[in-house]
Amino acid sequence: MKFATKAIHAGVEPDPSTGAIMTPVYQTSTYAQPAPGVHKGFEYSRSQNPTRTALQNSLAALENAPYGLCFASGLAAIDAVIKLLEPGDEVISANDLYGGTYRIFKKVFEKYGIVFHFVNMEDTKEIESKINAKTRLVWLETPTNPMMNIIDIQAVSKLVENKNILVAVDNTFATPYLQQPLDLGADIVMHSVTKYLGGHSDVVMGALVVKDATLNQQLAFYQNSCGAVPGPQDAFLVLRGIKTLHVRMDRHCANGAKVANYLHKHPKVAQVYWPGFAEHKNHAIALKQMKNFGGMISFTIKGDDQQDAFGVMEKFELFTIAESLGGVESLCNHPATMTHASVPKEERVKIGLLDSLIRLSVGIEDADDLIADLEQALK
Ligand SMILES: *Cc1c(COP(=O)(O)O)cnc(C)c1O
Repeated sequence: MKFATKAIHAGVEPDPSTGAIMTPVYQTSTYAQPAPGVHKGFEYSRSQNPTRTALQNSLAALENAPYGLCFASGLAAIDAVIKLLEPGDEVISANDLYGGTYRIFKKVFEKYGIVFHFVNMEDTKEIESKINAKTRLVWLETPTNPMMNIIDIQAVSKLVENKNILVAVDNTFATPYLQQPLDLGADIVMHSVTKYLGGHSDVVMGALVVKDATLNQQLAFYQNSCGAVPGPQDAFLVLRGIKTLHVRMDRHCANGAKVANYLHKHPKVAQVYWPGFAEHKNHAIALKQMKNFGGMISFTIKGDDQQDAFGVMEKFELFTIAESLGGVESLCNHPATMTHASVPKEERVKIGLLDSLIRLSVGIEDADDLIADLEQALK
């Protein structure tokens, strides 16, 4: 089945009790058992809920895998992955990461004895230099947030093949429509479902998708034992969002390309970070592993003055200043003081995350209106 058909049908069966086409919101915490231990696969809604099951199956199908698990947030999904590890185990992580991922690694799990190495994963030699007998996990995001670097998922996966090291890819920015990491050799796909999958800025949720049955069982154990599960109403909203994922992503990509090209020519703009430019340093890898380049764009302003960036952002009429991304409406963000404020300044500067950097989540409005908004704000 092709992607658009899966987005609409996968995981979703007419409801067995009524024939309802849309999986109902099973707003229930528990399920009647005709005799102790006799049930229909649903015992208690932390463990299983039919609305969540439909969504988990849908997400799995979109990533070409048999198993999906939903969590109360993207970070709760990351939390479950790190709980697979033991004290002393080592993780090699990309150095250009969502700020909250960096924070949970450094401030939550380091004190339990898990060792994190942050490297530039565009250079596989940097990864190789950190691999040792204790390495258990490689964690990466691509495109990276907010610098829009591209990491070669296949090359990283090949590097650790047969070494008892898992490769996890945060696929939030690309979505399964643009990039399917499990097909490129990764073991775990993680999503902040909050972003493009939900797509309407009305739900916080996370997900993991895997191919391996044992790995699924281990992660499902933490999903149930730690209990960070989403409710059925949120699962319903995401099921609805996914039905238009491919259509929305096509428009995000088209608008993103127009905005990136406009900014590229603007005299006040210093740098535009978008993997669709032929001169982007990882453009060839983006072409190889992505279907299109997405709607996320970062740019800096000449002179690199934080006040200039704030001035532009405050003048926007359509790009709302807000955390988050991936909704139908356009948003802008100042990574140094918002999403990435938890990353120390010296780490930020190392990756080029300057004080004038603005990150745009280009929505699916009319592109002409978005360009006009940029034009008046940059004046
Ligand atoms: C938002 C985000 C997360 C965290 O997800 P939440 O749903 O906010 O917990 C992780 N990775 C990326 C790339 C994100 O954009």
